[in-house]
Amino acid sequence: MKHVAIVLAGGKGSRMNSDIPKQYMELMGKPVLYYSLKAFEESDIDAIVLVVGKGEIDYCRKNIVERYGIKKVVSVVEGGSERYYSVLNGLRAISGCDYVYVHDGARPCVSSGIIRKCLDEVQIYKACVAAVPVKDTIKVADDNGFAVETPDRSLLWQIQTPQCFEYSLVKYAYEAMAVDDNRGNITDDAMVVEKYTDARVKMTKSEYENIKITTPEDIMIAESFLNKH
Ligand code: C5P
Repeated sequence: MKHVAIVLAGGKGSRMNSDIPKQYMELMGKPVLYYSLKAFEESDIDAIVLVVGKGEIDYCRKNIVERYGIKKVVSVVEGGSERYYSVLNGLRAISGCDYVYVHDGARPCVSSGIIRKCLDEVQIYKACVAAVPVKDTIKVADDNGFAVETPDRSLLWQIQTPQCFEYSLVKYAYEAMAVDDNRGNITDDAMVVEKYTDARVKMTKSEYENIKITTPEDIMIAESFLNKH
């Protein structure tokens, strides 16, 4: 098996102000998570490892994987308390493949075009992440909310998923992170690869529509994007 997606659905989504985790909320009558699984199901990816919350394996298998006939899911595993522990569990559930594509289950608008581009570029660069140039000016502020720095906008990218790596590279990086007590605040997979290996991570130009469902209004925005297609 060459290309494996790790689809993450192990979060609680506390910023959604809802009892239902965001990956299970309804988007045009189907769960948010269905859309990202379907995108990989219809792509050239060979297999999917689905990472879910504690105690949710059976629920997810029955109500999402089986119900919607997602045949590429080869394993469903429990995640951890942080996103990076969920990724680590996903990586440990894979026994040998060439490339891994880590994707947030909360990004339902990922397109076949983005996945295709990631597939092409990871085989050239060994590490690449879906990203878009930032549209707004970004400032670094101090603890009191006063601007201290304005980085050159032309160099800034907003990072999405899929985040794609050679399996051996990302597995090595994550295992090194797992035993490091000074890992710091890790918010994406590229950071782990940057910190624990010499690999350079390529920006793969993605689409602004590939949003992450984070706050309640994102459901409406995602619906309008999905409706277009
Ligand atoms: O919380 P955040 O929006 O950063 O989550 C991004 C993705 O990571 C979501 O799809 C979420 O389900 C997943 N996640 C996870 N395990 C965690 C936290 C988040 O699988 N402990």
